[in-house]
Parts: sequence; C-alpha cells; structure tokens
Amino acid sequence: MTLRKILIEPDPVLRQISKPVIQVGDKERKIMDDMLETMYKANGIGLAAIQIGIPKRIIVIDISKKEEKKNPIYFVNPVIKNKKKELLTYEEGCLSVPNQFAEIDRPIECEVEYLDYNNKKKNSKFSGLLATCIQHEMDHLEGILFIDYLSKLKKTMIIKKLSKQKDKVDRIVV
Ligand code: ZN
Repeated sequence: MTLRKILIEPDPVLRQISKPVIQVGDKERKIMDDMLETMYKANGIGLAAIQIGIPKRIIVIDISKKEEKKNPIYFVNPVIKNKKKELLTYEEGCLSVPNQFAEIDRPIECEVEYLDYNNKKKNSKFSGLLATCIQHEMDHLEGILFIDYLSKLKKTMIIKKLSKQKDKVDRIVV
C-alpha cells in the first residue's frame, strides 16, 4: 500500500467528473488499498479516488471508531436507487477542504447499487452517518464539494482561506 497525496480545494482536478470503472481488477484493488491507507492516515471516514487525483468512480468508507475493528466498505460505480425524503443534518468536513466545517442536510437513508472489492454487484440500504458519508463521497464523483451547498459568500471565504494556506511555505524549527 502506498500513501497518496490528498488534493486540496481549489485544485481544479477536484472538479472533474469521474469515469466509470469497467471491471474491478487488481489495478482498481491497488487504488482502493492506497485510498484506504491514505484515508486512515488522515483520520478521515471516507475518500473518493478523485481526491488522490484519480478520476474513477471509486469510494472507500470506514466509519468504525478508533478502538473498534476496522470495517472498510468499497464502492465502485455507485448509483443511488432510492432515497428517503426525510433529511438528517451533520456538521461535515472534508479531507480536501481542511479545517472547514458546515452543517449539511442530506437524505437520512439511501439505497445504493455498486460493485464491491471483488467486482460483485451489490445493492444495499444505508442510513444515518453511513448514508451521509456515501452521499458526500458520491458528490466528489461529480466534482461537487460540500461547500457548494453553502452561500456564495461563505464559500468564497473558505476558498480564499484555503488558497492562502497553499501559498504558505513549510515552517521548520532547527
Ligand atoms: Zn470530501
């Protein structure tokens, strides 16, 4: 497994629309392994391939707590088949939008069709935190970030802040 670099907004690559995977093979599994390692290292609970610069419809998620056994879920070509009208609010953050958080409403439950780690077709219902996380990650596949749901003013402020951070040189103490 290899640790990959996570792209940070306003990197234009994050705005690309990811392409479907034809078949889940060793190459895709290697990407998923790298994504998972990168996500764990960054203390995230979800990551889309585009966040490490790969425009493929691949997502990894693990909402298990630190003290619990790891429980990764892999989604390739996920499609939402159904979602509840009822909404759930979470304060969301994103590994590509560091240190920024905002309350976002999303359907409380969704049914997703996808291919798993072994190229097996699956259809499952997800609710609560997992449903929110899947929908956040699926937005990444369309080039959408959670800050896109905020007011223009708030979004501009966040992007400005992130751009400034990017220009900063590394601080060292010797
Ligand atoms: Zn994200």
